[in-house]
Amino acid sequence: MENSQDFKKRFEKAKAELNQLYLISNAVQTTLRLDEILFIILTGVTAKEGLGFNRAMLFLVHEESETLEGKMGIGPQSSEEAARIWHHIETEKVSFEDLISAYKNFKKESLGSFNAIVKTIKIPLHENQDVITMTALEGMPFEVTNPQAKNKVNPQIKELLKLDEFVAVPLTAKEKIVGVILADNKFSSKAIAKEDIKILSMFAYQAGLAIENSRRYEEKEKMSQIDSLTSLYNHGHFQYLLDEEIKRSRRFNHPTSIIMLDIDHFKIYNDILGHPAGDYLLKILCSILLEDLRETDTASRYGGEEFVIILPQTSKKEAFNLARRLRKKVESFAFKNEEVLPEKKLTISLGVATFPDNAQDKDELIKTADIALYRAKQTGRNKALMST
Ligand code: GH3
Ligand code: MG
Ligand code: MG
Repeated sequence: MENSQDFKKRFEKAKAELNQLYLISNAVQTTLRLDEILFIILTGVTAKEGLGFNRAMLFLVHEESETLEGKMGIGPQSSEEAARIWHHIETEKVSFEDLISAYKNFKKESLGSFNAIVKTIKIPLHENQDVITMTALEGMPFEVTNPQAKNKVNPQIKELLKLDEFVAVPLTAKEKIVGVILADNKFSSKAIAKEDIKILSMFAYQAGLAIENSRRYEEKEKMSQIDSLTSLYNHGHFQYLLDEEIKRSRRFNHPTSIIMLDIDHFKIYNDILGHPAGDYLLKILCSILLEDLRETDTASRYGGEEFVIILPQTSKKEAFNLARRLRKKVESFAFKNEEVLPEKKLTISLGVATFPDNAQDKDELIKTADIALYRAKQTGRNKALMST
């Protein structure tokens, strides 16, 4: 029989665990950013006042490629580092709430080398005997404490993560398995108790829901940045991107250029061939423009048949050269039915402007590029002009 002292101890522990669960559930609801949610979850699993594991790693199911991808890992790289961190938390009296609210100013780069290792991992989700894969496929927690279980760990992952005894629990959202959390006590070598697995599973259920919500939100947010006809960024997102780029320009003292462009006589093309033919042409034109951009350049649909390209760290001369190249490329491309146009060819006019050469802020930069474009139209179309 359990004596009253033991019972009291067990009761106090359960109470503390419920309180942690409550704190973490509240914290994950304060943000919809996936990175921040993952950070809160893993901090909850590792904080001494939380679930108290030494290390925690989180993997998410990537449905398209049918893999489990490492997303984040929290934990020291050595027992010295572990001791340092625990000492700091103890002496500075960092509370559990402080730890989990640190996500507000956490930087991904500060997570260290263990996180970097976790992020390299991609495990194919085929039926096999690997414990981590089975957790994701079967949606059941696995406790890897005996030799038989240890033999069921993919040797490469075991080596990479220096795994020995650990627990793997599925992250579920309603009926769906969204990922897996691994946790271990690599440095304290404390045995993993049944109770720990139970509370970790309860916690994983909360975490799974938060992850799924955040993913849905980020998906929606992304959709609202994209123009549905051309798949380029829309006007609103262009404004945001340019704002950010100009901030970077100011900070690092480098130029940002933009190219605004508009199709020549597009109304005629539409009037003769119809709006669907015009829409089709817009799509083709966009794919032609995109071919010549660098990875850091972004193209947006500014409005109707007017587009804008942001060229980070690009001088006026370089931007002007690109504008001229684009003009020529469009001129020489054989668009369907372009002979209905006055010049028998589909062409574009372009205006180039550069920050800080031509403008002091974002609105002025757009305005000066627009003026250059207007001049190109006024002086005969099928031209690229730069702002002076
Ligand atoms: P300009 O050379 O001066 O630019 O002549 P323009 O006819 O192209 O004049 P403007 O730039 O004002 O043209 C706007 C026309 O573009 C109106 C409309 O026929 C066409 N347009 C704008 N947005 C769309 C769109 O989403 N789809 C289609 N099919 N046509 C569009
Ligand atoms: Mg036009
Ligand atoms: Mg126009």
